[in-house]
Amino acid sequence: MMAKKQKIVILQRDEDDLLDTDEVKEPAAGPAGKTEASLAKEQVQPKDVKVFLRTFGCQMNERDSEIIAGLLMDHGFGVAESQDEAEVVLFNTCSVREHAEERVAGNIEKLSSLKDKKPGKMIGILGCMSQRHGESLFSRFPSLDMVVGPGNIYDMPELLREALDGKKVLAVDKLKRPKKGTDPAYRSGVFSAYVNVMYGCDNYCSYCIVPYVRGREVSRPKKDIVKEVKSLADAGFKEVILLGQNVNSYGKGQTQKVDFPEILEAVNDIKGIERIRFTTSHPKDAGKPLFKAMRDLPKVCEHMHMCLQSGSNKILDLMNRKYTLDEYMKKVDTLREMVPGVGISTDILVGFPSEKESDYVATRMAMEDIKFNSSFIFKYSPRPPALSSTLIDDVPEKIKVERNRELLEIQKEISYEINKKMVSSSQEVLVEGPSRMSKDELVGKTRDNTSCVFKGPSDLIGKVVKVTVKGTSPFTLKSELET
Ligand code: SF4
Repeated sequence: MMAKKQKIVILQRDEDDLLDTDEVKEPAAGPAGKTEASLAKEQVQPKDVKVFLRTFGCQMNERDSEIIAGLLMDHGFGVAESQDEAEVVLFNTCSVREHAEERVAGNIEKLSSLKDKKPGKMIGILGCMSQRHGESLFSRFPSLDMVVGPGNIYDMPELLREALDGKKVLAVDKLKRPKKGTDPAYRSGVFSAYVNVMYGCDNYCSYCIVPYVRGREVSRPKKDIVKEVKSLADAGFKEVILLGQNVNSYGKGQTQKVDFPEILEAVNDIKGIERIRFTTSHPKDAGKPLFKAMRDLPKVCEHMHMCLQSGSNKILDLMNRKYTLDEYMKKVDTLREMVPGVGISTDILVGFPSEKESDYVATRMAMEDIKFNSSFIFKYSPRPPALSSTLIDDVPEKIKVERNRELLEIQKEISYEINKKMVSSSQEVLVEGPSRMSKDELVGKTRDNTSCVFKGPSDLIGKVVKVTVKGTSPFTLKSELET
């Protein structure tokens, strides 16, 4: 009945595809006359249980899904290539905006209707939505079997066993991540890998749910980070992406005084690693030591994601962002002086409570002044218990949509202008894979994080190559491989 053990497949996060019902076929029935539930109770062995893990949200969630997959495999659980052939379907969820939760809810409701026909199938919610809503998710989704928070992921094998024994599993009691320890080796990629440098956040920006679902800041010991990157280099990985909600406050509260630039230096010294990226940076903690490291350490790519959120000081203050527009722009100027050609991307939130037309115009003008290489523009939605949820959400949805659409248009023009200036330049690209747009083209990222496509053989995937930029579209450089 059960297929042989396979590698767990983690789907990359995708924006808006709900389960396509006609895609799902009725999985095979158990030995004659036995219900799934009794079969599960009687015989279940990890090797007989295939798990399908679906990831929503940010890079931290993708890294968590790898850790969960590695733990489950290390404890003998099987994998499923798709949701319909799995006994257990786990959703690793995001709570950062209402829309993110609605998408998960839609998937669970669809899967629940299938569960009526196949009672042995199990459904679990992991990640930020679990931490935010906890036990109440069982009454919202009666077909749920597990609710596990981000801090409890290291207990997943035991928790899954309990669920397979028929218990409803609720595990959201560990908000703080264990400081020490080595994560399972499993990775979803082969040449680029995420490495957590810290967990949680102490900033409590008033619109943000993260501190409530991922806890206070915990910095991983330098030696654990270096050890992990060394093992990745030994395994042939070329690029590491250092992760944290705010990497610039790395080391706070640690006995051993180490800051983030020192982590960059230590990782830069590791043989085999060719590229280092990091995300995310809170502007208030970004400064010359970091910019100097970006300038002087050859493997550290010249790209920084530094979230502005708004161009209005009134709104920045209500957001509890702890900087003014002027301070932010001064940091951008210093960064551009110290790191020539640096790519800067950002996050912008429109429609924050009490955002007047003048506040919005200040944001638009800031984007036109700063000229980010790229930006993620989001519409505000209240996230209780984040503080801003106590404010009246007084910006009409129609206005939020308009402001969101206009800023996306403005960013498209700015990115296009920036890319046009790169035509005829030579760029170093880490080849990520075949282009989705055309099968005989490859796609990769330049050091300043711009997408780039060019014709080339597939054995270049995972390698760093040189290309000449021949043309561009608003977001992608059209290039030619240099021979
Ligand atoms: S810095 Fe602010 S927006 Fe970013 S994760 Fe922390 S609280 Fe949220």
